[in-house]
Amino acid sequence: MLAHMHQAKSLLGSATPSFESYFHARKEKYGYVFLGTRYGNAQLPQVELADILRDKKRNLLKQGFTARLREAIQQRLERQEQVLLFQNRRGYAPYLSCDACGWVPECVQCDVNLTYHQAIASLNCHYCGFKDGLPAQCPACGSAKLSPVGLGTERLEEDVSLLFPEARVARMDLDTTRSKYGFQQLLEEFAAGHIDILVGTQMITKGLDFERVTLVGVMDADRILNFPDFRSSERAFSQLLQVGGRAGRREKAGEVIIQTRRPDHPLFQWVIGSDYHALYLEDMRIAKSICTRPL
Ligand SMILES: [Zn+2]
Ligand SMILES: [Zn+2]
Repeated sequence: MLAHMHQAKSLLGSATPSFESYFHARKEKYGYVFLGTRYGNAQLPQVELADILRDKKRNLLKQGFTARLREAIQQRLERQEQVLLFQNRRGYAPYLSCDACGWVPECVQCDVNLTYHQAIASLNCHYCGFKDGLPAQCPACGSAKLSPVGLGTERLEEDVSLLFPEARVARMDLDTTRSKYGFQQLLEEFAAGHIDILVGTQMITKGLDFERVTLVGVMDADRILNFPDFRSSERAFSQLLQVGGRAGRREKAGEVIIQTRRPDHPLFQWVIGSDYHALYLEDMRIAKSICTRPL
C-alpha cells in the first residue's frame, strides 16, 4: 500500500510466500517470477522422517531422540560437521504439573500455562512477562511432587549433553541472546567451529548459513502441525522448509531428519518434495469446501 501511495515498485521474495501473495500472483494481480534453482546451485537437502511412536514401541527412544536421529548426530560428530536441532519452545518445559492431581500453574493475568525455566528457577508467562517462583507444594492437593511436562530448548540442551557428553552444545533462543552481544557471540562461536550442536527455537531457522552444518533435526514436528489455526499447515510447511534449508548450503549435501508421530501426514510429502504448489492447491480446496458448506 505504501509503495502504491508513492507510485514505487515493490518486490516480494520468498521460498514460502503467504497464500494471499501466491493467490494474487496466480490471479495476475502481482507479476510472478519463479526461481527454480538455489543460490550457488546448492542441492536441496535430503529430507527424511523418523517415526517417534515406532521407536517408542521398540524401546529405541532415548530422551526423545529416535535411533535414526542419534545415529546421524553421532556420524556428524565423528566427521567434525555441525548439527542444528530445532524445537520451537523455549524454557525447560512448557508447563509443570502436579503428579498427584494434575494441577498446572497458570498466569494470573492471561489464563495460559506458565513455562518452567530451570536455570533461573522460575515460572514465566511468555505472553505478558509475569513471573512466579516455584511452588514448594501443590496448592490444590498439597503434594510436594511437581514434574515438568514437555520439551523446551533448555531441557533439550541438557538432554543432548547427556546423550553426547563429548559434544560441545549451545542454545540459541530469546533467553540466551537477550544481552547486547549475545546473538552475535553465539553466531561467531558457531561459525568458528567451537560448537558442535546448536539447539534452538525458530531463531535458528532464519538466515543462518554455515558450510559445516550438514544435519538439521526437527525434534517434534507434530507440535507445529497440530497448532489450532487455519494457517497451521501453511506455517508448518514454511517452518520445516526454512529450518531444513539450513542444512548443506554449499558443496556438501545436507540432511534433514524430522521426528513425528504421524509420518503418513500428507504435509511431509510436500515438504520432502519442496512442493509449495501442491500444498497451496490442497489447502485452497479445503478452505473452499469449508466456506461453501451450509451452516
Ligand atoms: Zn496436586
Ligand atoms: Zn501472562
